[in-house]
Amino acid sequence: MSKIYKAALAAFAAMSTFLALAEPAQAARTSSWPEPVPVLTHIDTQDPVVFITLDDGWNHDPAAQRLLLERRIPASLFINPVNYSWDKRYYQDLLSHGPSRMENHAVNHVDLPGLSPAEQRAEICGARDRQLAVFGDSPRLFRPPSGLYDEETRRAARACGAKALVTWTYDATDAPWNPDPELPELKRGDIILLHLGDTAEADLRRVLDAVDASGLRPAQLRDYAPDS
Ligand SMILES: [Zn+2]
Repeated sequence: MSKIYKAALAAFAAMSTFLALAEPAQAARTSSWPEPVPVLTHIDTQDPVVFITLDDGWNHDPAAQRLLLERRIPASLFINPVNYSWDKRYYQDLLSHGPSRMENHAVNHVDLPGLSPAEQRAEICGARDRQLAVFGDSPRLFRPPSGLYDEETRRAARACGAKALVTWTYDATDAPWNPDPELPELKRGDIILLHLGDTAEADLRRVLDAVDASGLRPAQLRDYAPDS
């Protein structure tokens, strides 16, 4: 056997192995089970309510915590595990002394679309498992990092126990990506996105003023998510 022929054969064998490995990985990019969860950007309700959601949680501002507790705001907290790993007490106080609930925002703040079903489930189920272990309560809602999702995200959310994937009606966070946020007149069922970041207290006060002006009241989002 000539050297060139042997080299070609080896290259072909390597290519076949690569294709054999690549094929199942390709096939695992999509799945057909379970049924995708619904996506909520707004809640269809006749109740005079809006929903306040607070994401990420890198800044544990005592003033924002006090405001949430004193006004008994039933906020939905979509917090990444890294942001309670160093101070779970901040969130435990919010959960045990007020009506806020902890929801799922994935383990890492990564873009989920395009990740395989297994990778997406690791992100979402992993965050659920940590929350259950640390706070003794499972999340019911899932909000994908940066609001980015595909159909696999919706299936993974279902597989990890969420009943809905939640985005938002308005982002009211005062942040570089959203300078000078202005809230229109709020309507029943609106979902408001805020962040537990550097401007949390001021953002919360501005939103609560808008909620008061609209004659509506904050309600707990997980109670209004459809069971489907
Ligand atoms: Zn986020």
